[in-house]
Amino acid sequence: MTSPHGRSHAVVVGASIAGLLAARVLADTYDHVTLVERDDLEGDPGTRRGVPHARQPHALLSRGLSVMQQLYPDVLADFRHAGALTGDMTDASRLALGRDRLTRYKSGLTILFASRALIEQCLRRRTLALPNVTLLDHVRFRGHHLDHARLRVVGIEIERPQQETDVLTADLVVDATGRGSTTPAWLERHWGERPKETRIDIKVTYTSRFYRRLPQHLGGDLGLGSLPQQPQERRTAACTAVEGDRWHFGLAGSLGDHAPPTDAGFLAFARSLNYPDVAEFLATLEPVSDFEVHKYPASVRRHYERMRLPVGLLVIGDALCSFNPTYGQGMTVAALEAQVLSDALEHTTTAEQLQRRYFRNAARVVALPWSMVSGGDGSYPELRQHQTITSRLATRYFNLIQHAMKHDGVVLATFFAVMHMALPPSALFKPTFVLRLLRHRARPHHTSTAPAT
Ligand SMILES: Cc1cc2nc3c(=O)[nH]c(=O)nc-3n(C[C@H](O)[C@H](O)[C@H](O)COP(=O)(O)OP(=O)(O)OC[C@H]3O[C@@H](n4cnc5c(N)ncnc54)[C@H](O)[C@@H]3O)c2cc1C
Repeated sequence: MTSPHGRSHAVVVGASIAGLLAARVLADTYDHVTLVERDDLEGDPGTRRGVPHARQPHALLSRGLSVMQQLYPDVLADFRHAGALTGDMTDASRLALGRDRLTRYKSGLTILFASRALIEQCLRRRTLALPNVTLLDHVRFRGHHLDHARLRVVGIEIERPQQETDVLTADLVVDATGRGSTTPAWLERHWGERPKETRIDIKVTYTSRFYRRLPQHLGGDLGLGSLPQQPQERRTAACTAVEGDRWHFGLAGSLGDHAPPTDAGFLAFARSLNYPDVAEFLATLEPVSDFEVHKYPASVRRHYERMRLPVGLLVIGDALCSFNPTYGQGMTVAALEAQVLSDALEHTTTAEQLQRRYFRNAARVVALPWSMVSGGDGSYPELRQHQTITSRLATRYFNLIQHAMKHDGVVLATFFAVMHMALPPSALFKPTFVLRLLRHRARPHHTSTAPAT
């Protein structure tokens, strides 16, 4: 039986975080949703080939967690049952900016301490439990299937192992194949136009490893992190508690810098950070895995909202916009885009309206995190061209905020709430907030750090 408005069958290509979230909301209005995935999904999501980044530390921002809880009401219990821990963003971890430890404060922003593999596994289990969602794994997407006469995508071409290319028909196709999406090239070849791209060549390299976590480590805190004070620093560290009594320790270098994947090289990189606690703690840990290295060349934003597209085609997640991972935004933005899709499904009746509303509102969702990345990374001299006058002013203002965050819990919590997309940026410009910044301006610029134990 066909649903009203031709919503019979939707295909989502890519069964990673964005694809699972898209399938979840499509299942509300489509009779049937098929997830098409190249990998064999039998095994551990932390080791499958299609998501090499899943082996690197992932932080889920507080807004991302709350959207996931709206989409899957019991998912927090699932995460915890699988071994995830939760804590307060600014009270459960030891954070430093440059060489200064940030103050601690109960912000009310809940953070999930878990591997990306655990998050994907739980979302997958919930999504595939929906009665009208089917998974076709071990199936490769080759391209969209275009009906030239109707100017619409009517399915996808797929390839199964040792079989001829086949067509899977659909009323709607959602590309969730990640940053390597081939939709722009396909559009150029078959449609004569591809989306405009904005690219920031940040060249980040992550090196990470798992270590054994003991109850006495860090006095029970769940994380230790050093954020770079741009434009001087290109190195960051994040060590977070994850399931299985482990620490996931990641060191990242920008603009070609990287931590070598050797015991000595990793420790030396940690020692080079301005925040000595990181190396002191690392030196006490026992490794329980090999090193993993991941190179991320550039943040890429694709402006589908600015072009005319064949009807019946949407793009979500990293395929739409991929952000410098050190800002920790990708999964949260994918969740917000799924919400935008849900809203578009609810408020439109035709495929044309659905596409227009989705891309317009997804571009709005992407704009804020993208401005954080372009403003932040644009403060490196090599990437100055990405700074606008507004972001240059914002960087100066940000320096005032950074300074106050070392002493003032309210400033710290408000700043992180904006970074976590839980509060709008206007929260940083309220008179009471500005007064707090001014009060701290006269304080000395460096605070001492106590050793990590
Ligand atoms: C090093 C690193 C660290 C990160 N850290 C964070 C973090 O701390 N917090 C955060 O929120 N985000 C982080 N991210 C980003 C986050 O991983 C992504 O935003 C998130 O996984 C959503 O991605 P996605 O589902 O759009 O695409 P992906 O995760 O890339 O998934 C794409 C899927 O499509 C499948 N696929 C691809 N091509 C085909 C094809 N032809 N046929 C069939 N299937 C196909 C792949 O197998 C895969 O399953 C990080 C990224 C990197 C690289």
